[in-house]
Amino acid sequence: KAAKAKELRGQPGQLKDGTLLPLLANVGKPSDAKEAHEYGAEGVGLFRTEFLFLGNAEPPSMEEQTKAYTELLSQFPGQKVVIRLLDAGADKPLPFLTPEDEPNPARGLRGLRTLSQHKKVLEDQLKALAAADAQTNANLWVMAPMVSDEFEADFFTKLGKSYGLKFVGSMAEVPSLALMADKVADVTDFVSIGTNDLTQYTLAADRTLGSVSNYQTAWHPAVLRAIKLICDAGNAKGMPVGVCGEAAADPDLAVVLAGLGVNSLSMTPVALDDVRAELAQHTMEEARELAARALNGEFYHPAEWCTMEGWNED
Ligand code: PEP
Ligand code: MG
Repeated sequence: KAAKAKELRGQPGQLKDGTLLPLLANVGKPSDAKEAHEYGAEGVGLFRTEFLFLGNAEPPSMEEQTKAYTELLSQFPGQKVVIRLLDAGADKPLPFLTPEDEPNPARGLRGLRTLSQHKKVLEDQLKALAAADAQTNANLWVMAPMVSDEFEADFFTKLGKSYGLKFVGSMAEVPSLALMADKVADVTDFVSIGTNDLTQYTLAADRTLGSVSNYQTAWHPAVLRAIKLICDAGNAKGMPVGVCGEAAADPDLAVVLAGLGVNSLSMTPVALDDVRAELAQHTMEEARELAARALNGEFYHPAEWCTMEGWNED
């Protein structure tokens, strides 16, 4: 099966009926680009920029950032590369940017909320991205993490464009943004769904906490319904919707996401072969049927205690 999956490398992600679904790579540093190419990624769907900041006592200079973004972009000529602004806070704390005394950091200052309080960090990152864009010919898309609603999405789109960035989007990781998706679609160029955080916030279960790890699955119908809201808004208004969380790397879930109307999937490069192979087994009609069943909770397995199995024994 693995050998068969490998055979499809080099072909675009598509369903059995030929419906295209671009398969992109999640990348943590510019040198990961090699691996993305090796597994046949059609571009980058999530470049996490935290590596530039982690382990340092202060933010990187604009020059340092421009160099890193240029290094990445130059390895994807003509291809889509989605770069995410710094996601500091919660599971990615940065001593010089994020408060240490938050009782619930996942619900505190993180992502765009952090950046909004550190104007220079935000502006330097946008300037460096615009400079790298001017020096390369990849198709650069820039997005902000942890955007809560259409007001923040609108702010970020306008800010990004004021720096000359052409395609500016928001991550969908907070349920409030999913609930306002029709409004968000009016003010942003694209949305990329971060299912890791969207799941933790939809189910109110800390993604870093082992005791509630059974909640951390995008197969939960509530998460899928949130995703559907975003896809419906995007497809009605011509706004591309991608998925860049762990969910995209689950081949069966990838089919469901296609059926929900997602336009691209981004994942760790090693997952690309299996997702590509599974998508090729299903038509869009089948994917939509599977999505309808998944929205109904058919494929979600609740914890044993809430099925009451064994509850009245001993
Ligand atoms: C996500 O939340 O799904 C995501 C892609 O971002 P991160 O895992 O970096 O928070
Ligand atoms: Mg996230």
